[in-house]
Amino acid sequence: MAKIFVTGGAGYIGSHVVKALGEAGYEVRTYDNLSTGNRWAILHGDLVEGDIADREALKKALQDFRPDAVMHFAAFIEVAESVRNPLKYYRNNTVNALGLLETLRELHIPRFIFSSTAAVYGTPETVPVNEEAQLAPINPYGASKMMTERFLADLAAAGGDFAYVALRYFNVAGADPHSRIGQCYKNPTHLITRALKTALGEFDKLQVFGTDYPTPDGTCIRDYIHVDDLAAAHLVALRHLLDGGGSDIFNCGYGRGYSVREVVETAKRITGVDFPVEEAPRREGDPASLIADSSKISANLGWQPRFADLDYIVQTAWDWELALRKRA
Ligand code: UDP
Repeated sequence: MAKIFVTGGAGYIGSHVVKALGEAGYEVRTYDNLSTGNRWAILHGDLVEGDIADREALKKALQDFRPDAVMHFAAFIEVAESVRNPLKYYRNNTVNALGLLETLRELHIPRFIFSSTAAVYGTPETVPVNEEAQLAPINPYGASKMMTERFLADLAAAGGDFAYVALRYFNVAGADPHSRIGQCYKNPTHLITRALKTALGEFDKLQVFGTDYPTPDGTCIRDYIHVDDLAAAHLVALRHLLDGGGSDIFNCGYGRGYSVREVVETAKRITGVDFPVEEAPRREGDPASLIADSSKISANLGWQPRFADLDYIVQTAWDWELALRKRA
């Protein structure tokens, strides 16, 4: 079975992909500095604790594993933080990704799967947005990922046997249905997690960032995708590359959007807690509406979502929050 090297495999999305890879029989090595990830989140394979900025450690971890493909999740993900501290994002998401690609070239490791984001589209002209849309990020986070996509496109165009798949994630949420793994950040900023932690009393209120957007209820619309469906998208992308498929880019979402208010209502219903909600000013860097046209990955790679249901997403995230509480 093929060997897969996963940077950031101890993180939220990475750990769900490692789980899926392990269940599918792949040999997995996680490379993670545990800055936001957790050792317990790695359900398969081994962990090499290291930073992607540490070229020597990275090279060694790759050299003695000799992977057939690399999946790169190690990155920062907060839009608002990227606006405040852009260089942190360009350093890790762009410069360190470049370093990783150089190391892969050196070691002749030709297959690469990249965690990209819908943030590369900025405020798309048409929604649902497809992969042909212009890239026009409106925050440093999206720009940091867009630049790495550009490295990949140019590298693939330069010839040789390098091939990559970039997956543009929409809003990833939910957790393992057995509550073994899920989102676990020191300072969670994502809507569903904030809402559920507010229901648990960990925050005194949930702020709704912006109620004057040009959307039906004035709040931002996002396409929430369950993390296990996203993990499955990585497996079909991997299969494609291992079968000799060429470089490509795919959106990952469900093609259905929910407003912040709709998410809040769902969180209240599922938790049974009528937690306090406050209308707040817009958060910098947020586009009004982001919905995926994911028909390409379904048509070309046969990806079929199994959990396209906001209730299921929020329920698994809630079960995870309750499990996390018990653990603490
Ligand atoms: N949001 C909000 N309150 C929060 C967290 C998020 O109103 O406490 C909004 C945010 O402004 C955006 C949407 O929820 O419109 C999704 O934000 P999130 O941070 O979950 O994901 P992003 O779209 O930034 O990747």
